[in-house]
Amino acid sequence: MNEHLRSTAVEREPAPPTPWGAADEIATYLAPRSLDAALEALRAGPVTILAGGTDLMPQSKTGRARFHPTLMNIRRIPELQGIGEASGMVRFGALATMTDLLENALVRSRFNALWQACDCFASDQLRNVATIGGNICNASPAGDTLVPLLVFDAHVVLASKADGTLATRTVPLRDFLVGPGRTSRRPDELLTAVEVPLPNERFVSAFYKAGARPALDISAISIGVGANPAAGALNDARIAFGAVAPTAIRAPRTEATLEGRLVAETIEPALKAADDEISPISDVRASAWYRRELIRNVLRGMLENVGQC
Ligand SMILES: Cc1cc2nc3c(=O)[nH]c(=O)nc-3n(C[C@H](O)[C@H](O)[C@H](O)COP(=O)(O)OP(=O)(O)OC[C@H]3O[C@@H](n4cnc5c(N)ncnc54)[C@H](O)[C@@H]3O)c2cc1C
Repeated sequence: MNEHLRSTAVEREPAPPTPWGAADEIATYLAPRSLDAALEALRAGPVTILAGGTDLMPQSKTGRARFHPTLMNIRRIPELQGIGEASGMVRFGALATMTDLLENALVRSRFNALWQACDCFASDQLRNVATIGGNICNASPAGDTLVPLLVFDAHVVLASKADGTLATRTVPLRDFLVGPGRTSRRPDELLTAVEVPLPNERFVSAFYKAGARPALDISAISIGVGANPAAGALNDARIAFGAVAPTAIRAPRTEATLEGRLVAETIEPALKAADDEISPISDVRASAWYRRELIRNVLRGMLENVGQC
């Protein structure tokens, strides 16, 4: 083995027993211990990436996801771990779990909407394994961290070794999400981190999710609101919605109606703009009509609350 291959070799293990009924599709199971090794594997051929598995495994069981011949467990890669801040930019490693986010002091104090989204996410067991990278790459219109991350102007960091050397690119989350279950990630890329500018100390934010039951439910709608409030007016107003469009979305026209103006005077135009910006569908979780009613009524309450801060 030459030096290059030695340094990038990945650990090969027998494919694990799979209770989800698709084992025959997997020829190779990889569990790399470095980013470099993972990127070499992605470069070599079609790979299914496994993080917490809380989307991938149920989807493979129902036939919504099919495995490539290589399944790569990324959970042993140290470069994908951790949450930290440097020079006003907060980095969430792709493997940060919902529990990691909930227990992080910076998230608790400065990213309230994200903390609230994690707090109402699934159950303790799911929160312990579900990762932020998986939530983003799954690209569900109802993905709960997507809404606050859009409010906080998050960018995703993607790494690859397309021509043999490490390359990274940073993409705004709003451009990364391109449709239900679809992102602009290339097959040879790994999402390594999410970067978010640290909001100023006066920035307030909130997240609300409505579903048929308070726990272990996918959102029928979700809303994220953020702003610098001053004497009843909102500056730097940011609004995002989940489960009412093909992807989680920011709502720039709703934000424009609110910007720098008294909430009490702009609430009706804001609700009208929001109704124009969303395009909900009817499905098993809610009708389009009910989703519009939820957005209107929940957004009103959230804006009134933020206006009083
Ligand atoms: C019972 C139940 C309840 C749930 N409740 C909620 C909820 O309340 N809110 C919510 O938003 N979601 C919920 N989910 C969905 C799921 O838990 C989340 O989307 C979770 O964050 C996915 O993360 P994961 O690490 O398990 O991803 P995985 O299932 O491992 O992967 C998801 C997808 O992303 C890809 N992927 C993962 N990591 C990377 C990476 N670093 N780079 C590139 N691609 C990657 C995988 O290949 C796969 O396509 C629930 C799921 C279940 C089963």
